[in-house]
Parts: sequence; C-alpha cells; structure tokens
Amino acid sequence: MHYFAYKGKRFCAEGVAIEKIVKEVGTPVYVYSEKTLKRHYKAFDSAFAKTRRMICYSVKANSNIAVLKTFADMGSGFDIVSGGELFRALKAGADPSRIVFSGVGKRPDEIEYAIKSRILMFNVESPQELRAIDAIAGRLRKKAGIAIRVNPNVDPKTHPYISTGLKKNKFGIETEEAVREYVHAKARLKNVAPMGVDCHIGSQITEISPFVDALAKTRALLSTLRNEGLEIKYLDMGGGLGITYDKEEPPLPSRYGQAVIEGTKGLDVTLIFEPGRAMVGNAGILVTKALYTKKGSAKNFVIVDAGMNDLARPSLYGSYHAIKPVRLTDRPEITADVVGPICESGDFLAKDRLIPEVEPGESLAVMSAGAYGFSMSSNYNTRPRVAEVMASGASYSVIRKRETLADLVKGEQVAGAKGRRTK
Ligand SMILES: *Cc1c(COP(=O)(O)O)cnc(C)c1O
Repeated sequence: MHYFAYKGKRFCAEGVAIEKIVKEVGTPVYVYSEKTLKRHYKAFDSAFAKTRRMICYSVKANSNIAVLKTFADMGSGFDIVSGGELFRALKAGADPSRIVFSGVGKRPDEIEYAIKSRILMFNVESPQELRAIDAIAGRLRKKAGIAIRVNPNVDPKTHPYISTGLKKNKFGIETEEAVREYVHAKARLKNVAPMGVDCHIGSQITEISPFVDALAKTRALLSTLRNEGLEIKYLDMGGGLGITYDKEEPPLPSRYGQAVIEGTKGLDVTLIFEPGRAMVGNAGILVTKALYTKKGSAKNFVIVDAGMNDLARPSLYGSYHAIKPVRLTDRPEITADVVGPICESGDFLAKDRLIPEVEPGESLAVMSAGAYGFSMSSNYNTRPRVAEVMASGASYSVIRKRETLADLVKGEQVAGAKGRRTK
C-alpha cells in the first residue's frame, strides 16, 4: 500500500502533483511519501503489538536524515552498517540505546565511535571481530553489548546477490562455532557483554518458510546458550521481508508477525527486527524525464535523464520497476527499453517494457524506488546526485538538494597544489 496515485490524468504523491515537483525541482528526482513511511512502520510494529520488540530500521535502504527522523519520531531504532550511518542516525535524533551495528567489515575507528556513542550492541560477524571489539572496549574502559550473527544455512529463495544466510555467503558465523565463541566471550572476554543472538538471511524474501526455518535454528541455539549460562535477552531476526515490485505476493507484516510470534512462543526475549525495504521500498519513486526516443530495427528506446548511477537495481540485479507516465495520455502502447545516459549497455531502467508512447520532455515515474535507490546512487559519469523530496499531504519539501557541479569536484586537487609534499 502506498499513496502514489492518479488524480484525473495527473500522477500525484499524496496531494502533490508530480508535475509540480518536476517544474520546481527538476529531474531526476526521488519523491517519497511521508504518510506511506508512517503507514509501513505502523503496520510492521503493530504486527508484534503483544510482544517485547524493537524495530531497528535498516538505514542502508534509505539513509536520508528526513526519512530517519520520520522513523525516529515514531520510536524506531536503527540497524547501521557503518560509522557514516551511525552519524546520520544520531543526527536524525536516534536513541543510541536502540541502535544495533551489523556488517562484516567494521573498522576499528567505527567500533570506537559506536562504543563511545553507547549503542545497544554489535552484531558480530567473525571471531576476529569479536576480539577486536573486546580490545577496543577495554582500551575505552567500556563494556560493549554483542550478539553473534549466526549463519543458519537457510536458502532465502531470493536473488543470489541478496541472499546472505547460506554457508557460501560471507556473512555470520556457523552455528557450532558461534556456540564456542559465546562461551569464550563469557569466560574470557571481559569487555564484551553477550546479550543477543542475531540472524539475517537475505533480502526481498517473498515466502514465510525461510524465516520460519531460520527462526527454528536460532531458537535451538538460544536454548543451547542458556544452558551454557549465557544471559541472552535479545533475539534479532534481521530484515528481509519482501515487497511487491511486479507480481510478487510477499507475506504481509501481520502474517510474518504471526509466524514469528508462533516460533518464539515461551522464549523470554525482546525481539529485534531490522526491516529496510518493507519500510521504504514502496514509499518512494524516481521521477525522470524523457530526453529522446529512438527507433532501431530491433528495438525502441526511450532515453531518459536518470541512469544506473541514480538507480542501480535494474542493472545490478535485473530488477523490475513499474514505470508510469506522470501525465496520462491516450497514446498507443509501445514496447521499449527505457535507458539512461550512462555509457554502459547495462544502463537501463526497464527492458522490453510495454508503456504508452512517450514524447521528449515528458516525465515518467519509476515505481518502488524508495529502497536501495538513492542510497546506492553514485556520481559515475560525473553526474550530480539527484534531489530528494518528501511529500506530506498537500505540500512537499526538498530533503536533499541536487548536487552542483562544484560538489562533484569537492575535495579533489591537482598533485602538489596544496596538499602533502614529498622531498
Ligand atoms: C540490508 C540488511 C537489512 C535490511 O534488509 P531488507 O531486505 O531491506 O529488509 C537488515 N539487516 C542487515 C544485517 C542487513 O544487512
């Protein structure tokens, strides 16, 4: 469910006509719907209404501080994967005691920053990382909360690039080794406090069974750990709940909630969730303008002003995003590739797509672009990163300005000009 729809012939974000945003802010532009963000958070949170829980929105899905603040104001915690994301979350007003830190490659300076910021816990992904956290916490005379991210060897049945819970994936620690690490931490590592078990198996998961399988395995681990005398208070289920891009029918949060509540019955734990895509995916669109159309002998092309640097998902995963005209016309439909200006054949937003004929200068809305859209964007081909806008009711605000040409070379300098000199 989202609040992007046609009013007459004009496509709108809540009560704001997209044409108005195009005229005032230009294209390409990401447009988010605040009401949709709030709705998604509430739907997820209320699926666990009767349980002790903490929703830690996964910052990497969409890290704009206005988006983070919307969630923080509703009581959300945050799942971060870098010092940069911690900085953003704190800037957005996050409560550090509701922040968990995931990721396989946390640097020492990031670990230190997180400990000093008094986050709830680290989701630890390797034995060496566990020792690094213990050493850094010791030096700071602090105790760091930790959970070990276990790799349950469950197939999430999603795209291989976003499956993370299989033995061949780089993430987490296998269950038997995790037990040894917890026991070692409790006995020997004085500066860490093992308090949780963590498991995140992948993203865009559209079935309930992988979650249920992973839960059964973490539940078994949890009782093993308690038998070893560890005081585990948190069970972190990760994120991964899928959304509808095309014809997928992922479980609703309520259905997911039911399964989790069923699977955790009798466990005395606070549940942690790290949803990203399910919160923001369908709460954002990318609006782009057609520059040219071109008819080849094999294909029709609609060349637009947004490329793979603005929205990487189609190029990276072959992902489907629905494309809608910002103003409805009576023109016939054509089959076309919607492509960007980047000098790569992999630069496309849609392939062999049936869309109403487009004229240069007209705008298109690329749907379901709120997650892993702007946050994955880059300056490739020296293109300024685009503006982001939040629609709320009948008005909107620019929540990130479009980058300027000067922004593009900020921090660069010609060798020897001002910086370090060698003798
Ligand atoms: C990316 C990620 C998430 C969020 O995944 P979604 O599929 O967007 O819900 C949660 N936890 C961890 C550890 C992640 O890496």
